[in-house]
Amino acid sequence: MKISVVIPFYNEEANIDQLFKRLETIINSLDIEYEIICVNDGSKDNTLEYLIQHHTRNPVIKVVSLSRNFGKEIALTAGLDYTTGDAVIPIDADLQDPPELIKQLIAKWQEGYDVVYATRGYRWGESWLKRFTANNFYGVMESFSNIPIPRNTGDFRLMDRRVVEAIKKLPERTRFMKGLFSWVGYRQTAIIYDRSPRYKGLTKWNYWSLWNFAIDGITSFSSLPLRMWTYIGCFISLLAFLYAAYLMIRTLIFGIDIPGYASLMVTILFVGGIQLINLGIIGEYIGRIYEEVKGRPLYLVRDAYGFDNSGEDNNIKSDQVS
Ligand code: UDP
Ligand code: MG
Repeated sequence: MKISVVIPFYNEEANIDQLFKRLETIINSLDIEYEIICVNDGSKDNTLEYLIQHHTRNPVIKVVSLSRNFGKEIALTAGLDYTTGDAVIPIDADLQDPPELIKQLIAKWQEGYDVVYATRGYRWGESWLKRFTANNFYGVMESFSNIPIPRNTGDFRLMDRRVVEAIKKLPERTRFMKGLFSWVGYRQTAIIYDRSPRYKGLTKWNYWSLWNFAIDGITSFSSLPLRMWTYIGCFISLLAFLYAAYLMIRTLIFGIDIPGYASLMVTILFVGGIQLINLGIIGEYIGRIYEEVKGRPLYLVRDAYGFDNSGEDNNIKSDQVS
C-alpha cells in the first residue's frame, strides 16, 4: 500500500519547511510507504530551490517544475499524472488543509470508500464576503448542473487509484477539479474539519479570479445558460405578440397616433440589451470550444526531480491527458 501526496506550489517559500515538518511527522507515524509529489507552478520566489533541497534530504519528496504558472487546477493535474500510489491525496501548500487529517482519510479509504473528501466545517480567516459568495456559487452550481458538487469542499481529499485513472482520462482544458472529482462518481464519503487560516503568505485568489473560476465551473458542467435563451426568447416574443395585437386593435378603433417615442426607445434598448447578454454567453462557450479544439498540451514540464526518467517523458505525459 502506497500513498501519493500531491502539492501545488506557487510562491509558497515561507510555508515549505513547516509543511514538510507536519506532513512527514504524520505520515511517518502511520508507517506506510509514501511519496510526495510537489508541483512548482512557475513560482517567482525561491520555492523551487527549497523544494530541491527537501528532495535531496528526503528522496520520497519528488519535484515537478512546470515551465510557467499554469494555475492551481493544471498544477494539480500535472501532479496526478506523476503519482504512482494506490491512493492519492492532493493538499494545499499553505497548511489550510491540516495534514493530520490524512490519518482519518486513510482510515475511511480502508473501510472501502474510493473517494474521501474533507469538508470544511468552519473557515477560519476568511471574510464573510468570501463565505457568502462561495455559498451562493454552490447554490447556483447545484441548480444549474446535475452533478452534485459537495459544498465547502476543496481539493483536499483522498482518491483511490481507480478514481485517479478515471480523472486522467478526462481531456478538458478548463479543469474545474471539484466538478471533475464529482463527475467520475465512485463510492464517496466525507469527513468534516475546521479550515485554518493560511500559515504564511497571501491567497492568490481575488474576487475577479473567483468570478472567472465560477464561470469556468458553470460552463464546464451545464449548458443551461445557453438553453435558457430559448425560453426567454419565447417569453419576450409572446409579450411582443400580445402588445402588437393590442396596438393593431387600438389603431383600428382610434386611428393612428404618432407619439410613442418613449415606448419605442425602451423596447429597442431592452431587446438590444437582452441580445447582447445572450451573445456574450454564447461567446463564453465558443471561447471554451476554441480552447479545447486547439488541443494544446495541458502543461509543460521544465524539470522533474526524483523520477526515473526525469523530464524526458514530459511529452508522453501531456499526450496521455490530451
Ligand atoms: N497555487 C498554484 N498555482 C496558482 C495559484 C495557487 O499552484 O496559480 C497553489 C498554492 O500554492 C496553494 C494552493 O494552490 O498550494 C491554494 O492556493 P491559495 O491558498 O492561494 O488558494 P485558497 O486557499 O485561498 O483557495
Ligand atoms: Mg489557501
